[in-house]
Amino acid sequence: MWRLVILGPPGSGKSTQAERLSDEHHLAHLSTGEMLRAEVARATTIGQEVGQYLAKGHLVPPQVVNRLIHEKLNQVREQGFVLDGYPRSVEQAQALDENLEQLALSLDAVLVIEIPQETAVERLAARMVCAGCGATYNLDEIERAEAECRQCGGKLMRRDDDEPEVVRERFVVYQREMLPVLERYRHKGVLVSIDGQGSRPEVYTRLKGVLAKLRP
Ligand code: AMP
Repeated sequence: MWRLVILGPPGSGKSTQAERLSDEHHLAHLSTGEMLRAEVARATTIGQEVGQYLAKGHLVPPQVVNRLIHEKLNQVREQGFVLDGYPRSVEQAQALDENLEQLALSLDAVLVIEIPQETAVERLAARMVCAGCGATYNLDEIERAEAECRQCGGKLMRRDDDEPEVVRERFVVYQREMLPVLERYRHKGVLVSIDGQGSRPEVYTRLKGVLAKLRP
């Protein structure tokens, strides 16, 4: 059983890798981005509050995500988890520490998937996302006119925040907010950096290699 955090800039493939890892190890996959998009899609009170932040690529107020994660962590404490895209600031990292302490849990590792900004812009310009199940496709893998998800038949769409100028903004926000967070985890001795360039299976192999070293 693992208790992991996966971080990385937009387009690093962190959610895809988190998904595969959580499937393989039966871990709960907790993605704050996905939780927030679901709130927006359902037009809940939270969704209405955070819609503009997502559209601009800015971080939503920390108390919103802290609350979402707090509720979930409690539910999945026995199962193990992969936190995807959280924490995204020092304030969130502090909240997570307190949260884990209350639950008497600790993190096995914080994995950060690294890619250069222009790789992110290129990848996300070619990304299609299923509105039903959240599966992602690259335009190289599918026919440009393909409109339906191969997994659930849902409608394939582009994410508004995958437009190049929003991706660049998300990248800037990531670097500004994450530097001290990564420093904090490096200091605690749990940070592991993974090269995110190359294909999804290549990156996954690197990630598994890292976990194998942590627990041979
Ligand atoms: P992601 O799917 O992780 O790329 O996140 C998409 C968007 O959701 C981000 O650009 C933020 O607007 C918002 N978001 C996701 N996770 C967080 C978080 N931990 N804190 C604040 N905002 C977040």
